[in-house]
Amino acid sequence: MFENIQVAPADPILGLNDAYRNDPNPNKINLGVGVYKDELGATPILKSVKQAEERLVETEKTKSYLSIEGTEAYRNAVQELLFGADHDVITKQRAHTAQSPGGTGALRIAAEFIKKHMPGATVWVSNPTWANHQAIFQSVGLEVGSYAYYDAASKSLDFEAMLASLSQVPAGDVVLFHGCCHNPTGIDPTTEQWAQLAKLCSKQGFLPLFDFAYQGFGSGLEEDAAGLRVFLDQVQEMLIANSFSKNFGLYNERVGAITVICETAEHADAAFSQVKRCIRANYSNPPSHGAAVVTEVLTNPQLRSLWEMELQAMRTRIHEMRSLFVSTLRAKGVEQDFSFISQQNGMFSFSGLNPDQVAQLRQEFGIYIVGSGRISVAGMTKDNMEPLCEAIAKVLA
Ligand code: PLP
Repeated sequence: MFENIQVAPADPILGLNDAYRNDPNPNKINLGVGVYKDELGATPILKSVKQAEERLVETEKTKSYLSIEGTEAYRNAVQELLFGADHDVITKQRAHTAQSPGGTGALRIAAEFIKKHMPGATVWVSNPTWANHQAIFQSVGLEVGSYAYYDAASKSLDFEAMLASLSQVPAGDVVLFHGCCHNPTGIDPTTEQWAQLAKLCSKQGFLPLFDFAYQGFGSGLEEDAAGLRVFLDQVQEMLIANSFSKNFGLYNERVGAITVICETAEHADAAFSQVKRCIRANYSNPPSHGAAVVTEVLTNPQLRSLWEMELQAMRTRIHEMRSLFVSTLRAKGVEQDFSFISQQNGMFSFSGLNPDQVAQLRQEFGIYIVGSGRISVAGMTKDNMEPLCEAIAKVLA
């Protein structure tokens, strides 16, 4: 039965991680996968998370199943973080949230929901976008299209082209937006641009799907939610897939959420009942631990303020690495302008390095970068900055 099955290609990002792990070079540097690293190059468990886990060990009474949608405390905490406590969608009960296994699990449930209840819809993703988006939507049989986003020449958002592309999207299709810290470019719309996009969305009648995997990694928890909230001033319906992998460092606990927002509470109840049906047929109900940690941290004032400080420290370190990268490249004699890197948000930047340069960096210097030239700034430290920039200067020479 299985003898004719072909070997699948390695995942472009996780495959790179495997290659890095197997590289014996003691000076290797991993700027591939989107995992936060501290100054020592480690991905430690946050103190707020550790303390929450200690409390949970003491207080947890059962390992019985959660409900399909997860705990109420978690779902409420997620909504407050996304919208702010008094937002209309909360007070009018127009939003329902289900816990999911990571942001990927949330996107997969969104995909199944769209396929079932918006027949014929195409999902439009930015060009470029996170490498897994296409696969997630295509795996449920959805068509995926792309809209203009990045201008390689100016290394910035091509907003006019983006508007022009999205003006072609028909009513009833779905447009995926990165809530903040666009992956892979690190370039986000401004608040004014978000407002224009929301207006266009309302005029065109497409459904916005926000992928919100980096809340707090850009400018702050509230600031990073601005795009999504500006949209909610103008549109009545939305899907949101959010993740706590990055901002809580809970990568391997798989914790996220899918939120559906409708015009009325009644519509929201009906839509959510269908979201739950997708979950039931998919993984039945979510894993508990990661979401219990997030709930504990978000609802306990002392843990919450510790977490916000830790999140700020991660954000600040990434910003510092961006500036240090730009200045060190300059100090190494690189004439090409890399200053755009210090203006971008989140873990990633498009470096502009071409596939040959990326391959040379890997083969000669043990520096791992995704083939597209996307670099994870979070993998930079004060210690690896000099050899990193020296190697880049050599491949650019
Ligand atoms: N969406 C984007 C844009 C991402 O970059 C990622 C992770 O890299 C995800 C979703 C998935 O997050 P998770 O690891 O929680 O599944």
